Amino acid sequence: MGDMVRTCRICSVKDSLPDDVLRYRDRLLSMLPEEQKTSEKELENRLGKCECCDKMVDGTCLSCGCYVVIRAAVYDKQCPLHLW
Ligand code: SF4
Repeated sequence: MGDMVRTCRICSVKDSLPDDVLRYRDRLLSMLPEEQKTSEKELENRLGKCECCDKMVDGTCLSCGCYVVIRAAVYDKQCPLHLW
């Protein structure tokens, strides 16, 4: 059996974004009440779907215009194509 390297979906999507976007996301999330934040498990699920989606280009969803790391991190936000 070959070695299998598991890539964190949150990291792989984050790696496609400039640092200022990630700082903006962190600032937004720091102001959001805990109950409005997506759990790590659900965030992995959401970003896994974005990662395989042809609407995502450089971390931006072409359907809604949002950075997916921000949209997916807010619990009550939805994928505009209902993929999550
Ligand atoms: S359409 Fe949905 S799954 Fe695709 S990039 Fe946008 S938010 Fe992600």
